[in-house]
Amino acid sequence: MAGVENSIKPTHFLASSEPRTMTVRRKVLVDPHMCEGHALCVHSAPDVFDVTDGDVATCSERPSEKLWDQVAAAVDACPRGAITVVEDQ
Ligand code: SF4
Repeated sequence: MAGVENSIKPTHFLASSEPRTMTVRRKVLVDPHMCEGHALCVHSAPDVFDVTDGDVATCSERPSEKLWDQVAAAVDACPRGAITVVEDQ
Protein backbone atom coordinates (compact mmCIF):
# COMPACT_ATOMS: atom_id res chain seq x y z
CA MET A 1 0.00 0.00 0.00
CA ALA A 2 2.90 2.36 0.53
CA GLY A 3 3.52 2.35 -3.26
CA VAL A 4 -0.03 3.53 -3.96
CA GLU A 5 0.25 6.38 -1.49
CA ASN A 6 3.50 7.52 -3.11
CA SER A 7 1.82 7.72 -6.56
CA ILE A 8 -0.73 10.32 -5.43
CA LYS A 9 0.23 13.75 -6.67
CA PRO A 10 -0.49 16.83 -4.63
CA THR A 11 -3.39 18.45 -6.48
CA HIS A 12 -2.58 21.91 -5.20
CA PHE A 13 0.46 21.91 -7.51
CA LEU A 14 -1.55 21.00 -10.60
CA ALA A 15 -2.66 23.66 -13.07
CA SER A 16 -6.07 25.11 -12.34
CA SER A 17 -8.88 24.53 -14.81
CA GLU A 18 -10.26 27.96 -13.94
CA PRO A 19 -10.07 30.41 -16.86
CA ARG A 20 -7.36 32.95 -16.31
CA THR A 21 -7.81 36.55 -17.22
CA MET A 22 -4.99 38.85 -18.07
CA THR A 23 -5.37 42.55 -18.54
CA VAL A 24 -3.49 43.81 -21.57
CA ARG A 25 -3.28 47.55 -21.86
CA ARG A 26 -3.79 48.77 -25.37
CA LYS A 27 -4.12 51.97 -27.27
CA VAL A 28 -5.52 53.03 -30.61
CA LEU A 29 -3.60 55.02 -33.19
CA VAL A 30 -4.45 56.70 -36.49
CA ASP A 31 -1.72 56.88 -39.10
CA PRO A 32 -1.99 60.44 -40.45
CA HIS A 33 -0.20 59.41 -43.63
CA MET A 34 -2.83 56.76 -44.39
CA CYS A 35 -5.94 58.63 -43.25
CA GLU A 36 -8.08 60.33 -45.89
CA GLY A 37 -10.48 62.00 -43.48
CA HIS A 38 -13.77 60.61 -44.69
CA ALA A 39 -14.89 59.92 -41.11
CA LEU A 40 -16.22 56.38 -41.31
CA CYS A 41 -14.43 55.82 -38.01
CA VAL A 42 -16.42 58.68 -36.46
CA HIS A 43 -19.66 56.98 -37.46
CA SER A 44 -18.51 53.72 -35.86
CA ALA A 45 -17.00 55.22 -32.71
CA PRO A 46 -18.07 58.84 -32.22
CA ASP A 47 -16.74 58.93 -28.67
CA VAL A 48 -13.28 57.87 -29.79
CA PHE A 49 -12.62 59.45 -33.20
CA ASP A 50 -13.01 62.95 -34.54
CA VAL A 51 -12.31 64.65 -37.85
CA THR A 52 -12.45 68.27 -36.90
CA ASP A 53 -10.22 69.73 -39.58
CA GLY A 54 -11.64 67.54 -42.36
CA ASP A 55 -8.29 66.09 -43.30
CA VAL A 56 -7.10 63.59 -40.72
CA ALA A 57 -8.87 61.74 -37.94
CA THR A 58 -7.76 62.15 -34.38
CA CYS A 59 -8.62 59.78 -31.59
CA SER A 60 -8.63 59.18 -27.91
CA GLU A 61 -5.67 56.82 -27.61
CA ARG A 62 -6.89 55.08 -24.46
CA PRO A 63 -10.69 54.95 -24.55
CA SER A 64 -12.63 53.41 -21.70
CA GLU A 65 -13.13 49.64 -21.78
CA LYS A 66 -16.77 49.93 -22.85
CA LEU A 67 -15.74 51.68 -26.10
CA TRP A 68 -13.42 48.99 -27.44
CA ASP A 69 -16.20 47.27 -29.38
CA GLN A 70 -16.72 50.56 -31.20
CA VAL A 71 -12.99 50.82 -31.85
CA ALA A 72 -13.04 47.34 -33.40
CA ALA A 73 -15.92 48.43 -35.63
CA ALA A 74 -13.95 51.52 -36.66
CA VAL A 75 -10.92 49.40 -37.52
CA ASP A 76 -13.15 47.26 -39.74
CA ALA A 77 -14.82 50.29 -41.30
CA CYS A 78 -11.67 52.19 -42.18
CA PRO A 79 -11.06 51.69 -45.91
CA ARG A 80 -7.45 52.82 -45.61
CA GLY A 81 -6.36 50.55 -42.78
CA ALA A 82 -5.24 53.68 -40.99
CA ILE A 83 -6.36 52.60 -37.52
CA THR A 84 -4.26 50.25 -35.47
CA VAL A 85 -4.56 48.92 -31.96
CA VAL A 86 -1.27 48.25 -30.24
CA GLU A 87 -0.22 46.96 -26.88
CA ASP A 88 0.39 49.85 -24.55
CA GLN A 89 3.68 49.41 -22.73
S1 SF4 B 1 -12.14 55.90 -41.51
FE1 SF4 B 1 -9.90 55.68 -41.61
S2 SF4 B 1 -9.26 56.95 -43.32
FE2 SF4 B 1 -11.35 57.56 -42.79
S3 SF4 B 1 -11.10 59.27 -41.35
FE3 SF4 B 1 -11.25 57.42 -40.12
S4 SF4 B 1 -9.11 56.78 -39.82
FE4 SF4 B 1 -9.13 58.23 -41.49
